[in-house]
Amino acid sequence: MLRSALLAASRSPQVRTMVEKFPPTHAIVERFVAGDRLDQGVTATETLVNSGRKVTLDHLGEDTKDAAQAAGTALAYEHLLTALKETGLAADAEVSVKLSAVGQFLPVDGEKIALENARRICQAAADAGTTVTLDMEDHTTTDSTLSIARELREDFPWLGVVLQAYLRRTEADCRDLAHEGSRVRICKGAYKEPESVAFQGKHDVDLAYVRALKVLMAGQGYPMVASHDPNMIKIAGQLAEWNRRDVTSFEYQMLFGIRPEEQLRLAEAGNTMRVYLPYGQEWYGYFMRRLAERPANLTFFLRAMATR
Ligand code: FAD
Repeated sequence: MLRSALLAASRSPQVRTMVEKFPPTHAIVERFVAGDRLDQGVTATETLVNSGRKVTLDHLGEDTKDAAQAAGTALAYEHLLTALKETGLAADAEVSVKLSAVGQFLPVDGEKIALENARRICQAAADAGTTVTLDMEDHTTTDSTLSIARELREDFPWLGVVLQAYLRRTEADCRDLAHEGSRVRICKGAYKEPESVAFQGKHDVDLAYVRALKVLMAGQGYPMVASHDPNMIKIAGQLAEWNRRDVTSFEYQMLFGIRPEEQLRLAEAGNTMRVYLPYGQEWYGYFMRRLAERPANLTFFLRAMATR
């Protein structure tokens, strides 16, 4: 119930205006977001890299309804990638991109515009010597995102995609994408989805996550295990061992601010541990999804609002 309400609120302009009005929320937001400027994103990247972790940076934004804003987001990524190259961080830091932030939902030629903007970002990543992963949004975008990814992969074969274990279709998508050179981030899924397309309860989603992991770990691609769940992390390690994968053939990923000690433990054990690091002014939707994942986060947030 609470999760559904928060996920619905994450797309409500009214709630957004209300939440963004409270300056103290920024202290809470800081736990999950590096800052609202590019230099803050780069500084946080440097700190993470110096601690032995890799990074994937997200210039925050989604659901763009304006072509100029979509082009502006692509430009922001180009600046980010130039900064990563100039600071020598590109070897350890890539970028994650939401296609809805670069035009996918525009009423006219949305997919075409998103493809072209994503192509610019991929080219900038190639010039910097790093990679891009396309985030996955709600299920209405899955086919479109995978089809744009397929086109981009013709020129940028290292492009990564995300699959969400809660979607009933995902085990089959894992089979399609478990081929050599294919970078697939497997996560549980963060959006409110109908039962017709997605498993609903935690137990069913966890079982689906394990099925997806089995396919990806047995395949020829490069699985990116995105979860904070101790059980999923343990099972991923066991499956890697059973499939005789060495530590360079897959990686773990977690969100900035969540289970940092576990991030360090995995990195110190010799694994590749990549932190998803968001920065930028458009933090609202991302932040609300993090609240929805853990009721304790909502309690901290409400306490901060009450004591402002
Ligand atoms: P859960 O069962 O939700 O959590 C397991 C444990 O992790 C919890 O008990 C708690 O201890 C801890 N935890 C989890 N979430 C939080 C939190 N917010 N605050 C504090 N503790 C927490 N989803 C998409 O739909 N599309 C994407 O493209 C996408 N990209 C992602 C990239 C990365 C690197 C990661 C880590 C997640 C991404 N997600 C994405 C989000 C993902 O789908 C889940 O919503 C999120 O990771 C929570 O699921 P979990 O596997 O951690 O397990």
